[in-house]
Amino acid sequence: MFFNCERAMNSFLQSPNPAAIALTLKNTVAMRILIIEDEPRMLELLRVGLYEHGYTVMTAADGETGLEVATTYEFNAIVLDIGLPRLNGYELMKALRGRVSWTPVLMLTARDAEDDIIRGLDLGADDYLTKPFSFPELVARLQSITRPSREDAGRTLRSADVVLDPDRHVVIRNSKRIDLSRQEFLLLTCLMRCPGQWVSRQTLMEFVWGPNLPVSHGALDVLVNSLRAKIDAPFHKEVIGTVRGSGYLFKRAACAAERSAQ
Ligand code: CA
Repeated sequence: MFFNCERAMNSFLQSPNPAAIALTLKNTVAMRILIIEDEPRMLELLRVGLYEHGYTVMTAADGETGLEVATTYEFNAIVLDIGLPRLNGYELMKALRGRVSWTPVLMLTARDAEDDIIRGLDLGADDYLTKPFSFPELVARLQSITRPSREDAGRTLRSADVVLDPDRHVVIRNSKRIDLSRQEFLLLTCLMRCPGQWVSRQTLMEFVWGPNLPVSHGALDVLVNSLRAKIDAPFHKEVIGTVRGSGYLFKRAACAAERSAQ
């Protein structure tokens, strides 16, 4: 396995010690970023640039190594090139989410092709950048996709009979753990921050997908339905309400299941 670390961790490069790397990553106060990119110049540019912005950086130069590093260590975000040898960016995303890993992913695409972007987002990427991009833009996107978990760190949300722990990515209803995708989790987080108050569709879409993504209103409805199927349907009581044409809300008290507008 070939991987690289920030300069302070260079001693590990000669004889990689996974336990020591895991400990160093765990103890760092900086944001931990994994860059998966096969083009050496681009990889070095990203690595040095992010390091100089105060990030702790690890890198991988092919998809298989990237997947292994991504699932071995904990990161705040992954910068993922789509065109990679051994496992391309799409395959890597699919495998990563299939292993229930919800680390935010910023895709790097070579072309501004909407189909490619939508495919990546469908597979669970959180945002994308089209090459060439500016460094401040990259940093802004990284800050954006890592924001929800940073703001909510340690702040457990409780309302009705639902408990959401942002730190551990855990949702419990009636003592039963509910497995949510990252996007479902973000949607529920946004709604649970202000129970009893409706949240506009625009706010929800920006919270889940970020402000710059070409996401349709239909995608939000699909996501709400999949969240309801997990959090409402099994309990026969609704906590997710609809404000017709405007948005959604998290109810302060669960109501008998009846998909009526508020
Ligand atoms: Ca590439």
